Formats: sequence, structure tokens, C-alpha cells
Amino acid sequence: MTNPLYDALIAPLANRTTPVLTDSTGAEMTGAKLHAKALSYAAALCSLGLKPGDRLAVQIDKSAQALALYCGALAAGIVFLPLNTAYTAAEVEYFVANSGAALLVGAPDKQDELAQVAARNGARFETLDALGEGSLTDIARLIGPSFTPVARAADDLAAILYTSGTTGRSKGAMLTQANLLSNCDVLMAEWRFTDQDVLLHMLPIFHTHGLFVATNVVLRAGGRMIFLAGFKVDQALKFLPQATTMMGVPTFYTRLLDSPEFTRDLVAHMRLFTSGSAPLLAETHEEFEGRTGHRILERYGMTETNMNTSNPYDGERRAGTVGFPLQGVEVKITDPNTGEEVPRGTAGMIEVRGPNVFKGYWEMPEKTREELRENGFFITGDIGQIDADGYISIVGRQKDLIITGGYNVYPKEIELILDEQEGVLESAVIGVPHPDFGEAVVGVLVPRAGAKPDLDAIKAAMGESLAKFKQPKTLVEVAELPRNTMGKVQKNLLRQEFDAMFKVDA
Ligand code: AMP
Repeated sequence: MTNPLYDALIAPLANRTTPVLTDSTGAEMTGAKLHAKALSYAAALCSLGLKPGDRLAVQIDKSAQALALYCGALAAGIVFLPLNTAYTAAEVEYFVANSGAALLVGAPDKQDELAQVAARNGARFETLDALGEGSLTDIARLIGPSFTPVARAADDLAAILYTSGTTGRSKGAMLTQANLLSNCDVLMAEWRFTDQDVLLHMLPIFHTHGLFVATNVVLRAGGRMIFLAGFKVDQALKFLPQATTMMGVPTFYTRLLDSPEFTRDLVAHMRLFTSGSAPLLAETHEEFEGRTGHRILERYGMTETNMNTSNPYDGERRAGTVGFPLQGVEVKITDPNTGEEVPRGTAGMIEVRGPNVFKGYWEMPEKTREELRENGFFITGDIGQIDADGYISIVGRQKDLIITGGYNVYPKEIELILDEQEGVLESAVIGVPHPDFGEAVVGVLVPRAGAKPDLDAIKAAMGESLAKFKQPKTLVEVAELPRNTMGKVQKNLLRQEFDAMFKVDA
């Protein structure tokens, strides 16, 4: 019997008497205990009638039990489908219906709504709360951990993760055993994870970053996690002294830097800080190095592909770039219209191929054909370029491309200049409808605390460094940029907000 992910990540826990998880109260869970809990959940899922290949949708808070449930699903060959805890019942219904989930597990305080969602879609419903208690845990406890893991092939599905869907309906990315295991092995090796590592884990576990990049790598390496419900500066400051590594989204780093208690001494012992899921400003990278002496290692990935590129562990971690393709991953930059490769240094569509790339979108063969080429290259939707040394940088999402007066404008180029202006903390550049130009470039600025940026001076500075068509037609100030839980700026919300600014009344 083989079950690649179970064998690599979970089976080794069976005899481990040392802790694999520590929570915010300092309570520890040994490897053997996590293993037993995983098998109990696997047995519970089977007792509820789930079979290998069935989908298990979960909308649950982060806890050791939630992680054990993920491990149990892998052992039972059941496809794990984690959902953002912020989704409303109506949103959850789409995922349950679309995936044909056999079981929905949700928080007890949402039981009334979610049980109906499940019932309407022919799924069962069980509960699991933030402390790991609930009807599913009751069943698991009753049944106990006697369970024989189910055989799985490398190409069998391990998980379905839905894309965040800011431009349309979310799509379920089908991730196989081999997708997850190959990526976890490559990351463990490239980032030098060992059984001596203690990862400060503050990311959500409904997303590829917290669930696969963080958890799979640590389990595979035999390390330990300080498993916190989410990111809080005071908690991070408290637990960093006990950790060797931290994985974060850029906002974790900017918020740590805002704290005077985040000092060089506090993190002198740390081995590695990584960042991803959204662009890390070069300025943050530099400020972090100035404060701590550590250079954050930035990497790039997505739901459909796991991780694609990383700055080097040894060698220069170049600010503002996402490094080189990971071992076994091919990256090429193509013309978005023709699909032909563009010359080095030219911005174009990032396409990736490798064992990490997903199998397709769940029951959306047409969407799959549009984005996953027959030759295996996935069209990421990200625009990027490769510099003379081979470092890849992301210019932006293709859907954020602005077409003004027939010219293409990549927001990132303008944002980099805006960010450098006096009094500007950060910026986002968007396109909004314009009667003459089709779209007009709008610069949205967040002032630094207490600063009053001089908008006329900024406009003049833009005039010096940018071609006329790239210069923002207008600059607006906002208190902060809208971001999702992974720290990504939600440009769709900004576009909605400023949609009517150039509208001419009929
Ligand atoms: P998700 O599928 O939610 O993980 O989002 C993936 C998207 O996040 C990618 O397609 C990129 O647009 C963005 N992303 C991830 N990592 C980075 C990074 N290091 N720099 C810039 N954008 C990133």
C-alpha cells in the first residue's frame, strides 16, 4: 500500500514523542498524538460514508484538530477542500454545490445556516469549533484511531483549492498527491528545512501558503510549528524568540516593522524569514534588513501551481524580485496575444510548467483549456519579466493592465515611482473608464502617518520620469488600501470606488 502524502508527511509522526505543534497557551501536541487524531478523523469520515475521491468541504477555524482533519483526509484518500472562514453561507453554498462535496464541516455558531446549505446540496453536515471540539470530533473520539490508510496513486487528487475569484466565479484547482509532494520536497531542500526547525505559523490554513507551503514542509522535515490562530504583532513578538523560521505575507513584515519592540536582538537567532502571496515592496525588504540584519527571502506561487520561483537561500536575495524557478519548474515569459516567448528583459505573461502545476479546474474543462496548454504550460495571468541575471520580477496581474488611448500601462511601473515620493507610504494604480481614453490612469495614494503629500509636486515628478500616457490623470488619497486576508490589494474594490470619476452625465 502506498499513499505518497500520508507516507511522507504523516506516517513518520506515529512514533514521535516530541512535539510537532505548540499553541498560543504553550500546550504541546506530540507527533504520535497528531497521528492518532488524524487516523481517528479518517475513521470518522469513513463512518459517515465518505469514500476515497469524495470531497470534504471545511469552513473551520485554525486549530490543531483542523490540521489533524486535513491529515486524516489524506490518510483516507478524501479530497480536502478548505474554505476561507470569511465566506458567507451563500458563498459556501457555491463551493459545496460546485464540488459536489459529500460532507461540509463548519463552525457550530454557523450551524443553522450551513446545515441547510449542506442539506440543499445532498451533503452531510458536522461541526468543529476553534478549540477542536464539535460533532465530528465526538465521532472521531468514539471511533478511535484504528484505521488503515488508503492506497493512492501519484495522480489522485489530494485537495481542491478554490481561486479567490476577484474577476468571476471561483474555480476549483485540482491538486494531486504528486503536485503537493513534489513542491514540498523542493521547498524543504531549497530552504534547508530540518527537524531542528521551529516555524512560527500565523497564516490561515485554508490557503496554499499556510496549508501547503508552511505545514507540508515542516511535517516533511520533521520540524515543529508554533501554531497560532492568526497574525498579531504582540503574539509574533512573544513567540519569535522560540522560533527558527517565519513565513509571512508582506503585511506581517510591515506591521512588525511598525513596532519599536521588533529589534535586531529579538530575531538575531532566526534562520529564515520568507514572504509571498503578495508583492513585498523593495523598501520593506531594505528596512527589514536595516532593522534586523536578515534579508527576507521572497518567493512566488499561486493556488493552481503551488510555488514556482524563489530567491536563493545562498546567494543574493534581490529585493523587488521573486528569484529563480524552483528545481523542476520551467518559467517562460510570453506575448499575451500570441503566446510566443518574448526577449529577455521584456514584460509578458508568466507561464509555468512542472510537477507542481495542477491537473485542471474541477468540472470546468473549458476554463482548464483556456489556461492550461496541452504542452503542460499554465498561463498564470501574472505579467513578469526576467532580468539579465535570471531574476524574475512580477509587474502585475494581466487583469490589472490598463489600456489608455490604446497604450498598455502596467501599474507596477507607476506604483514604484509613486511609492518613492515624499509623504507617500504606498500606492495602487488602477484604470477607470474614461470617455476619451477608454481607461484613465488613476494613482491612489496612502500618506505616511501625519504626512500631507504635495500632489502637485508628485504630478510634476511623474512628468519627469514617465511618458505622458502613463502619467496618472489624477491622484487621490485614501487612508489605507483594501486588502484581503493574504495581504493582496483588492484593486477590484478600488476600481469600483473610483469607477464614476470621469463619467460624463448623459
Ligand atoms: P493565490 O492563488 O491566492 O495564492 O494568489 C496567487 C497570486 O498572488 C499570484 O498569481 C500573484 O499575482 C500573487 N503573488 C504571489 N506571490 C507573489 C509575490 N511574491 N509577488 C507578487 N505577487 C505575488
